[in-house]
Amino acid sequence: MNRTFLNQLPPERIELGLPDKKPLMGEAEARSEADRCLYCTDAPCIKACPTEIDIPTFIKKIATGNVTGSAKTIFEQNLLGYSCSRVCPVEVLCEGSCVYTAWQHRPISIGKLQRYATEHATKNLDAQIFTPKAAVAGRSKKVACIGAGPASLAFAGYLAIEGHSAVIFEKRATPGGLNATGVAPYKLHAEDALREVEWVRSLGVEIKTGVEIGKDIKGAQLLAEYDAVFIGVGLGDDSRLDVPGEVGVNVHGATAWIEKMKLDPRATPIRGCTIAVIGGGNTAIDVARECALLGAAEVVMIYRRGADEMSGYKHELDGGRKEGVRFVTHAQPTGFVRDERGALLAVTVVTMKDGKPVAGTERDIACDLAALAIGQSKLRAIAAELPGVALDARGCVVADPKTGATGNLKVFSGGDCINGGKEVVNAVADGRNAARHLHALWSASPIPTRFTRGGP
Ligand code: SF4
Repeated sequence: MNRTFLNQLPPERIELGLPDKKPLMGEAEARSEADRCLYCTDAPCIKACPTEIDIPTFIKKIATGNVTGSAKTIFEQNLLGYSCSRVCPVEVLCEGSCVYTAWQHRPISIGKLQRYATEHATKNLDAQIFTPKAAVAGRSKKVACIGAGPASLAFAGYLAIEGHSAVIFEKRATPGGLNATGVAPYKLHAEDALREVEWVRSLGVEIKTGVEIGKDIKGAQLLAEYDAVFIGVGLGDDSRLDVPGEVGVNVHGATAWIEKMKLDPRATPIRGCTIAVIGGGNTAIDVARECALLGAAEVVMIYRRGADEMSGYKHELDGGRKEGVRFVTHAQPTGFVRDERGALLAVTVVTMKDGKPVAGTERDIACDLAALAIGQSKLRAIAAELPGVALDARGCVVADPKTGATGNLKVFSGGDCINGGKEVVNAVADGRNAARHLHALWSASPIPTRFTRGGP
């Protein structure tokens, strides 16, 4: 296969300076860790996984040396099991629910074992895990996906396995959604995300980049030419503070900044700089940790409420503290200070008490670069393109979380654009559930709980 998208990545990117926080296990380590699993009958780890991967079975297959079979068990439930093994918050999902955790012992390293099995499969495209069914005239359908993130990739991939034709339209030059552009690089480099995209393509999924729906192709055309349309567009641009001095060099939206680190060889170097990160969620702590690991002289995370009210995962916040991130809480930015040439000098903050600014407490926190991790806008334009698709008060697409069905019988949706921003694994579950629902509908068969198709 011509690995088109991988070949397009610039060879020099800031993210390559970041270490792999959970490196790939070797065979001996993987097999001995797999041997620790108790193969619990009522395995709590399965229930904690949003895609309900049969964890004890895939681990047992690693223990017996059947790595390809192990990957197949994972992919049957989670087609993007590779990126999920790298980015899932396993501490609060499968590993947090492992019986060893309840006994206050080290849980099974489920994430690392999952990576061991799936990396084997996605690096070797010749190791055919699934044999997609041949298209059958009159029975096979055509689907179009808007956005090439995890929800669309799962939706398109599962339908391709069942013999349907799936095309993904992506407005960026790079597919993969947040996995390629927005996940902290110490968890997943863009090239690893794109290798997984190539693996999904190898199932027969077509991906067209640089195509914007509403501009290059109208929604009406998709509805006329395809049997179903899936919206998997994620969220929109980073939200802004709308304070003086914000517009100018070196104040970035957090996801835009992560994308620069992952894909842009001209991005500002971090080493030796002072970085201010505004926000207290998982995106904020991701950016803060990345900058600390890249050699920033100082990283300050500024949050308007108390530390215990930060929505970032505790293990990530603790990791940031260990890496030297400094937390300034109960502080709200009121502006950015720049010199006469526009260079960023500081962010001005005011102390917050009971949700209100305290007069006379304004002060400057010096910084060379600021990242705003205060949320992302929603994508209203897509709904306007597809009649019957409604948005809720948050600006999210209204869809049945079990089937992805929207107010338009031909349109389905999943991922961040319906849930407002959750984990990659939730987006994969949405795409898979919508694919299962549609395939069952088209083949007049019950909705399967698991795909089992060809291959080893
Ligand atoms: Fe294995 Fe832990 Fe899952 Fe039990 S809960 S099956 S020990 S991973």
